[in-house]
Amino acid sequence: MSKQTLSFQAEVAQLLHLVTHSLYSNQEIFLRELISNASDACDKLRFEALNNNALYEDAPDLQVRVTFDQAAKTLTITDTGIGMSQQEAIDHLGTIAKSGTKDFMGKLSGDQKQDAQLIGQFGVGFYSGFIVADKITVESRRAGLPASEGVRWVSGGTGDFEVEAITRAERGTSIILHLRDDAEEYLNAWKLKSVIAKYSDHISLPILMEKEEWKDGELITPGDEAGGRQPGGMVKTGEWETINKASALWTRPKKDVTEEQYTEFYKAISHDHEAPLTWAHNRVEGNTEYTQLLYIPAKAPFDLWNRDKKAGVKLYVKRVFIMDDAEALMPTYLRFVKGVIDSADLPLNVSRELLQESRDVRAIREGSTKRVLSMLEDLAKHDKHDVAAAGSDGAADAVTDVVDADDKAKEGKYTAFYAEFGSVLKEGLGEDFGNRERLAKLLRFASTTSDAVTVGFADYKARMKEGQEAIYYITADTLAAAKNSPQLEVFKKKGIEVLLMTDRVDEWALNYLQDFDGTPLQSVAKGAVDLGKLQDEAEKKAAEEAAETFAPVLAKLKEALKDKADDVRVTTRLVDSPACLVVQDDGMSNQLARLLKQAGQQAPQSKPVLEVNAEHALVKKLDGSVHFHDLAHILFDQALLAEGGLPEDPAAYVRRVNALLV
Ligand code: ADP
Repeated sequence: MSKQTLSFQAEVAQLLHLVTHSLYSNQEIFLRELISNASDACDKLRFEALNNNALYEDAPDLQVRVTFDQAAKTLTITDTGIGMSQQEAIDHLGTIAKSGTKDFMGKLSGDQKQDAQLIGQFGVGFYSGFIVADKITVESRRAGLPASEGVRWVSGGTGDFEVEAITRAERGTSIILHLRDDAEEYLNAWKLKSVIAKYSDHISLPILMEKEEWKDGELITPGDEAGGRQPGGMVKTGEWETINKASALWTRPKKDVTEEQYTEFYKAISHDHEAPLTWAHNRVEGNTEYTQLLYIPAKAPFDLWNRDKKAGVKLYVKRVFIMDDAEALMPTYLRFVKGVIDSADLPLNVSRELLQESRDVRAIREGSTKRVLSMLEDLAKHDKHDVAAAGSDGAADAVTDVVDADDKAKEGKYTAFYAEFGSVLKEGLGEDFGNRERLAKLLRFASTTSDAVTVGFADYKARMKEGQEAIYYITADTLAAAKNSPQLEVFKKKGIEVLLMTDRVDEWALNYLQDFDGTPLQSVAKGAVDLGKLQDEAEKKAAEEAAETFAPVLAKLKEALKDKADDVRVTTRLVDSPACLVVQDDGMSNQLARLLKQAGQQAPQSKPVLEVNAEHALVKKLDGSVHFHDLAHILFDQALLAEGGLPEDPAAYVRRVNALLV
């Protein structure tokens, strides 16, 4: 292959521009990204070599070497991993293969600070080298290829890059950064060592640096030379030493890992710039043995809504990295969980297909799911809101008022978690029948007594009125629409709390939950209103009488609206409004039907029931009115408008209203 100049894919060029312009405030992450790539390359070699031992080429050591040259102003990161062929260098370093790149680019706002955070999540990886370098040279050879098939890739990080064939004896990759003037501090062993300790201590393969000595012959190890003497007065010794712990973090005993190390490990595997909300680190013994280190992030990633998105749990088998996105290890509704599972039982050559079938994997998945749920339960228990609302089913726990520092740190975290991931968690109701009850306890909603999304079913139950037999809820597009829905009027009048559900998945998720802890869930927009014991005898009688005297008008209404309404009846649920729409008990709610329609799906055609308030002035006017037909239609269309719907023929509605106004 002779030397050629190629252009970056448009997205790469755009990304590079962002990297160099937005990320300079956090320069040092480039080292984390490049060491992480080096470590991935070694993992890949180890994995491929399981079936082809020759790939080691009689040099079995997997390691990363970090060197620098003060005169040339270069910093070099060399690994003995899988390396790249010529074509791979072109493909991998010139394009972004990741799906969702477009989505990602679309999310960028132009606000540097915000974008820098997003880029962090996306993982700029290799391109982060351009934060500190104005030119990068990559020299590589893929394991197993002859020395003559090495490749050199050079770019200044703008529009294009050059590639040419080189001869390279050792397999693996060297990333040579030609540092910018403002990044010369990385030409210093002490600086490099401290950055590596901060970000890369958990990397399980050795990171090596060359020992240096003062020109007068005194030997020092990298990192020790900060005291007083000028760097530059040193020479390399040719001796190498490992500067990280080089043991996978999750294999260390809990007590030997600091909070900061857990946090940095999380940031490294998740590309998140924020600390996680919480984590759990356990060795599970029994029929299947494995180690789990699972994190719950504080912020949702930009592609949380993509259900096909790769899962966040990495699978290792006896410390050998197997795969990144092992969806078999975590149910889809917990796709926000990040972490590592290291199995002692699975075969090293386990494939995705095998994973789906393995009993061990099923046990791991169940165990990990339960672990995540108990982490969430723990956060929920310590949430300030729940502590305040003690007296619900948390009453037993509330007797001990000893709150240790740890517990204090958990306050408010569940509400924060729920704001980010609550909607995803709800998917679990339809996905994970075995844990449905635990999940139901973790759900939170707004209600007629709380605008904040903090009311759990248990809180609600604890506040239920004497004689109340159901948990009432309403679904709507927005909190305002839910709160002002005419269907709530009688509940407000009687002081009965109603849960306000405004999340798109609520309607669907609630299909899977008929009751909570023995109390049925009842939509206030479904079926005839039945307040059971909450309605007193006098009210019941008055309603029956009203229905009777109103019967002839009802019959006329039914006739006038026969194309729109399945039925028309008198209701006691309304106080201030003249009418509202409800669906039959077994029907699909209007809200869900609208959502389906918006999503371009066929919603089954079912007509709603019009319920009228016989006490309302407008309804009283109906009897004998010359405008009966128009009034009937206006009543219906207004009921539709009130719940956020749109009359089928808006123009006709306007015409009718105007005719009356004139
Ligand atoms: P990511 O690592 O997230 O895939 P990067 O931009 O960091 O994205 O790297 C792009 C690709 O370049 C990698 O997926 C890998 O195939 C290749 N690559 C990067 N660094 C190395 C390396 N040190 N050795 C081998 N391949 C590498």
